[in-house]
Amino acid sequence: MPSALDLLKTKFGYDSFRHEQEGAINAVLEGRDALAVMPTGGGKSLCYQIPALLFPGLTVVISPLIALMKDQVDALRLNGIPAAFLNSTLSTDDRTWVMNELRQNKLKLLYVAPERLLGGSGEFLQFLQTLNVSLFAIDEAHCISAWGHDFRPEYRLLARLKELFPRAPTIALTATADETTRRDIMEKLGLQKAEVFLSSFNRPNIHYFVEPKNSLTNRLGNYLEKHRDDSGIIYTLSRKSAEDLAENLDLQGFSVRPYHAGLNPETRRENQELFIKDDVKIIVATIAFGMGINKSNVRFVIHVDLPKNIESYYQETGRAGRDGLRSDALLFYGAGDVMKLKKFIQIENNPEQNTILLKKLNQMMAYGESRDCRRKLLLNYFGEETSAACASCDSCLTEVERFDGTLIAQKALSAVARLEGQYGRHYVTDFLRGSKSEKMKDEHRALKTYGAGADLPKELWLRYLKDLVGLGYLRVGGLEYPVLKLTEKSVPVLQGKEIVMLIKTAVRSQPVAPQQEDVPSEPELFTNLKLIRTNLARAENVPPYLIFSDATILELATYLPMSLEDIRKISGFGDLKTSKYGQQFISAISTYCQSHNLQTKISLKIPKRERKIK
Ligand code: ADP
Ligand code: ZN
Repeated sequence: MPSALDLLKTKFGYDSFRHEQEGAINAVLEGRDALAVMPTGGGKSLCYQIPALLFPGLTVVISPLIALMKDQVDALRLNGIPAAFLNSTLSTDDRTWVMNELRQNKLKLLYVAPERLLGGSGEFLQFLQTLNVSLFAIDEAHCISAWGHDFRPEYRLLARLKELFPRAPTIALTATADETTRRDIMEKLGLQKAEVFLSSFNRPNIHYFVEPKNSLTNRLGNYLEKHRDDSGIIYTLSRKSAEDLAENLDLQGFSVRPYHAGLNPETRRENQELFIKDDVKIIVATIAFGMGINKSNVRFVIHVDLPKNIESYYQETGRAGRDGLRSDALLFYGAGDVMKLKKFIQIENNPEQNTILLKKLNQMMAYGESRDCRRKLLLNYFGEETSAACASCDSCLTEVERFDGTLIAQKALSAVARLEGQYGRHYVTDFLRGSKSEKMKDEHRALKTYGAGADLPKELWLRYLKDLVGLGYLRVGGLEYPVLKLTEKSVPVLQGKEIVMLIKTAVRSQPVAPQQEDVPSEPELFTNLKLIRTNLARAENVPPYLIFSDATILELATYLPMSLEDIRKISGFGDLKTSKYGQQFISAISTYCQSHNLQTKISLKIPKRERKIK
C-alpha cells in the first residue's frame, strides 16, 4: 500500500504537504472526524482526495457550488483518478452512467450537491447505504451555519449522515475563520470530537496596495499596461460602472469583458468562460462574480470602489494567486466612497444591524486610510497576531521622510479637543484655518484655537490629520459620519511631553516591484509553454490552469528539464501527466535551449519544502 506522501507525488506530482494537510489526512485515515480551516488556495481538496485514494470504498464530497464540481472532477481525471459528479446539469444518460459506475465500485470520489444527496424521500441515501462509503467530505462547511455568510438551509440535513453512516469519518472544510461559525459547524454536523486543523490566513504571495481614488484613471491604466499578459478581476460597486469601465478599457485595447447580474445569463456564462480559458484577460465585475470559479492564475484583483467590509475584501482579493505565484490586491480608496456606502448599506428599521454594518464599514475605511502594514491589519481583523512589516504591502514598501511636527500636532489635537471630538477632518481643517465659511458655527469662531493653523494650506492639514490618525494620536470614530477623536496617546502631546514626527515626503515604490527570483526564468519560453498548455486544454476541453498551473509552467521555464526523468521533478507532473504531456514540453524546452545556447538547470531545483503558509 502506498503512503499518503507517495500518492502526493505519483498522482498529483507534488513533493511535500502543506502546513495542515498532513495532520488532517492522518486524522481521517485513522477514522477520526476532522475540521480543516484553511484560506482559499490553501489546499483543502487534497485533505480528502488523498484519503479517498487510500480507502477501499467511495468518498462522497458534498459541495453547494455546482459550477465547481465539473472543474474538480476534470482536475482529478486529468491525474488519472476515477471521479464523477451528480447534479442538475447532468443529462439522463450521464446520470445513468455515473450510477452504474457507482454500483460497480469503480469510482473513488463522487461530488454531489446537498439537495441531490438528501432530497426526495431519501432514495439516494438508501442507495448510498448499499455501497461502501469510506468518507464524507463536506466542502464549504460554513454553509451549515446561520452565523456564516452563506447559510444554506439544506445543509442542516447533513446532520443525519452521522446517524446513517456511523462508521465513515467526516471531514468538514471551510475558508471561514470565524470562531463562532467554526463551533457551530461542529455542533450542527455532530462532529463533537473532530480534530480541528487551523491554518494561518496569511496569503504571503498576495501583495497589498492602496492607491488614492482620485488618481484612478491614470494609475489603473498604468498598472494594466504593465500587466498585459496577466489575468485579473476588477471589482466595481454598480453594474453601470462595471459596464462603463469595461467599455472604456476595451477602447484602450485591453482584453476585457464585464460581468454582473444585469447581463443575460447567456452573455454572463460566455464572459466567464472566456476568462477562465484565458481567452479574455480582464473581467470587470460586481461582486456577483467569483464564487463559482477556481481559476488559479488570477494575477491581480483590483477594487475601484470600496468594499463594504474587510471580510468581503479579504474574500475577493483571495481569488488572486491560488497557484501560489506573486499576485496583487490593489484598492483605490477615496473617502467619498465611504459616504456613498453609508447610505447604501442601511437597512430600514433595523438600527442594531445598521450599527454593526457601519462599524464594519469604518474598519474597512481604516484599512484604506492607515499607514500601518496592510497585511497586519487584515490578519489582526481575523484575530491573528503578526509581527510588523511584511515587506510586501505599500505601507511596508514606502519610504518616508519625517520632521518634527510637534507644534502642528499640538494645534491639531487641541482643535479636536475644543470641538469635543464631534467633527470630521474637513471641519477640523476649516476650523484650524479660521475659515469664514457659513458652515463654521459661531460658537466655534469664538474659540481660541480657531484660525491657529491659518499658515498652512488645507491639503497639508488634511494630510497631517491623516498621519496623526495613522500614528495613533487621533482616531476616527462616529457612526453616521467619521469624526476625529482624541486617544490616550494625545495627552502627552498636548502636555508637551512628547515629540511627534510627521511625514514630510513619502516615496512610494511601484506596485509592480519585480518578483525576486533565485534562479531567473526564461520569459519567452514561459510564453511558448503557455501556448502549448492552451492547445492541450483545447484538445481536452478543459481550462488551461487544469492542465498545469502557472506555477508549474514557470518552473519549467526556470529549470529547463529536458528528459522525462527530470520533468518528473517539476511540481505538478504526476505519473499520468508526465506520460501524456511530458514529451511535448521537453521538445519545446530542448529546441528553445538549443537556439539560446542554454543547459538544463534542474540540478538547482531543490526538492522544495512547500512554501509555508505562515
Ligand atoms: P482550496 O480548496 O483550499 O482553495 P485547492 O485545494 O484548490 O485549495 O488547492 C489550491 C492549489 O494548490 C491547487 O492547484 C492544488 O493542486 C495546489 N496544492 C495543494 N496542495 C499542494 C501541495 N502540497 N503542494 C503543491 N501544490 C499543492
Ligand atoms: Zn506590510
